[in-house]
Amino acid sequence: MDIVCSQEELKLFERIGAAARKMEVSCYVVGGFVRDKLLGRPTKDVDIVCTGDGIALAQAVSDTFSHKPQVNFFKTFGTAQFRLHGLDVEFVGARKESYSSDSRKPQVEPGTIEDDQLRRDFTINALAVSLNERDYGKLIDPFNGIDDLEQKIIRTPLGPDITFSDDPLRMMRAIRFATQLGFTIIDDVFEAIKRNKERIRIISQERITDELNKIMSAKQPSVGLDLLFRSGLLKEFFPQMVDLCGVEIIEGKGHKDNFYHTLQVIDNTASKSHNLWLRWAALLHDIGKPATKKFEDGHGWTFHGHEVVGERMTPKIFRQLKLPMNENMKYVAKLVALHLRPISLTKEDITDSAMRRLLFDAGEEIDDLMILCESDITSKNRVKVKRYLENFELVKQRLKEVEESDKIRNWQPPISGDEIMGIFNLTPSREVGILKTAIREAILDGVIPNNYDAAYILLVEKAKEINLEPKLNKG
Ligand code: ATP
Ligand code: MG
Repeated sequence: MDIVCSQEELKLFERIGAAARKMEVSCYVVGGFVRDKLLGRPTKDVDIVCTGDGIALAQAVSDTFSHKPQVNFFKTFGTAQFRLHGLDVEFVGARKESYSSDSRKPQVEPGTIEDDQLRRDFTINALAVSLNERDYGKLIDPFNGIDDLEQKIIRTPLGPDITFSDDPLRMMRAIRFATQLGFTIIDDVFEAIKRNKERIRIISQERITDELNKIMSAKQPSVGLDLLFRSGLLKEFFPQMVDLCGVEIIEGKGHKDNFYHTLQVIDNTASKSHNLWLRWAALLHDIGKPATKKFEDGHGWTFHGHEVVGERMTPKIFRQLKLPMNENMKYVAKLVALHLRPISLTKEDITDSAMRRLLFDAGEEIDDLMILCESDITSKNRVKVKRYLENFELVKQRLKEVEESDKIRNWQPPISGDEIMGIFNLTPSREVGILKTAIREAILDGVIPNNYDAAYILLVEKAKEINLEPKLNKG
């Protein structure tokens, strides 16, 4: 394993080394940057540790540039940071930490590079490279992090119970790295996560969700979600997802395990799109199933209305997980609500009006909805999956044709609510809604063509039924 740096990175390290020498402190590149370089992954942030004042070193390095990049610092934490060529460079003084049991905030005192490496979460994150004259470029690896990188293993420098009890966020980080890097958490460490799972309660939900979103953004989010489930962490902060798990059997009939089905749907979605919120829609698409599950005699298991229940659960779960309560939440709720619609079109003779209705209801989200719905086709039976996918392909094709001829996506009916109020001299009221809906439905159903004149005739007819007459236009 080699570390390959860009010319800019190399020049920066020389400057940092020289500035540290002048200040008579030792300094090192440490942590994620070293790990990711050794793995050949892209890096955006560099962490520098020095045996002294990190803020002073950051300032001294910045001063060596003619444009003197602005140094941002946090006095209480003794950290400083500046940006250079898109790289985020962070400085901190080497420190020794000791924790008390009721908080994540350790007592901190200055320490050696070894002390600093010892406080890091995993052996693969505790690698340092010297920037000092006496051994410039030397890798300092007190915990055999290199071996663990090669063997793709996640292990803690200290006993894992201490590591996780000191800072329980590290349990999320272990699972996140396992997912992002495709590494294995060794048994000892995984057992310690199980034992310490309840400690996660002292971590703010925002930080937990940050890690969860990194897991969701990985190539195969199911890896991390399954680890979260099996460690017991998931139940601590997201019990509704755990409720999806398990198979019940009555009269010899079972249903699929909705937890593992959901993981499969998320991975399928992830293979087709990087959109985090689409992946969240995949996670939540069946979240209403446990609440709607019924065994009907002679029929088997049903989950009637689970898409409506799931739509309603979405804002509650977003609030609980401190996910943004904005248009992303609405997008997810909408996809959850509509997730059965495209597949239902494979089961009957597909009418154009059913297609138009789906296009209208999904609007801008139609492409993402189709990705979600296609991803939802899972079964152990490969022949079935193949057949369903072929049928689904037909729906996609027909949908495309209807969209091209009718342009329903972003469509608005030819007579607006304002116009209806004008024609009948109405103020905003229930009647306006009834008439508006009548026009929309008639066009989507193909009862009348999509134009103003046809809509006007229908409007006047419908208005008559509720005793309304158009006001007479003078001239
Ligand atoms: P990424 O940047 O992909 O999130 P990273 O490992 O660089 O991964 P950072 O949060 O940037 O993570 O932290 C940089 C380094 O700081 C880590 O490599 C690790 O050595 C140390 N570190 C970060 N968080 C913790 C923690 N909670 N406990 C112990 N060490 C930590
Ligand atoms: Mg980092």
